[in-house]
Amino acid sequence: MPQTYKNIVVLTGAGISAESGLATFRAANGLWNNHPVEEVATIEAFQRNPEYVHDFYNEMKPELYGAKPNPAHLALSKLQKEYPGKVSIITQNVDTLHEKAGSNGVLHIHGQINQAVCLNCGQVMESWGEVNTETVCPHCQVAGMMKPNIVFFGESLLCMNEVDRLLQSCDLFVSVGTSGVVFPAAAFVQIAKQYGAETYEFNLETTSNNFYFDHHIMGKAGETLPKFVEVLLAK
Ligand code: NAD
Repeated sequence: MPQTYKNIVVLTGAGISAESGLATFRAANGLWNNHPVEEVATIEAFQRNPEYVHDFYNEMKPELYGAKPNPAHLALSKLQKEYPGKVSIITQNVDTLHEKAGSNGVLHIHGQINQAVCLNCGQVMESWGEVNTETVCPHCQVAGMMKPNIVFFGESLLCMNEVDRLLQSCDLFVSVGTSGVVFPAAAFVQIAKQYGAETYEFNLETTSNNFYFDHHIMGKAGETLPKFVEVLLAK
């Protein structure tokens, strides 16, 4: 580990929010809150039955609204504020726990539970309240065209130009609580490594793409990540 890094990129997945009480995807055996993914997280499902898909995400909102950041989210926020180099956070999570912990500029590549996008004008609206098939877009005033701003299977990830730029310029890549099976995020470590970054994985277990990580830190992120951040800040 060198004295300081210029550009740190942290990729987080559902595992970082597990200690805040939010179930991971894998832990639920491929079901998301007891629903098969193809019924609630594909564009075909949304076209077939938008009311059902809206209801699913509306029902998730209270739990995610009430969730509190845990020591892992807080450690990353502290790193962003106190580290002399740049620290960027890319998250696959649709919760907003990084923001609640005080992090800025978080790139939500899979979208956010508290947002909806208008399929008519492309603008995003924020709401922790119910969004449904009658909701009027506050930008173009057209009703019935709002989609949860969640990236469904088969859709392109958000913010990818910025993500590519970060991966190509980072000198430390840290992955926290992601199983490494959901692409293209699973390939981010490979890209960062090709461009010369040192790579760390924080997880409870060894993941399927562990080959690309220089270091594996096993354990709960809420325990391991704060220690790692203290080491980085002490250098
Ligand atoms: P995943 O559920 O596939 O994998 C979670 C990983 O975290 C596993 O490898 C597990 O071993 C690890 N883990 C669990 N608890 C941990 C802890 N306390 N400390 C460290 N590691 C821990 O998650 P994924 O790779 O992010 O992919 C699932 C997709 O489902 C995501 O892309 C996301 O969009 C969505 N999702 C989001 C949330 C959320 O927003 N909180 C929750 C569930 C699923």
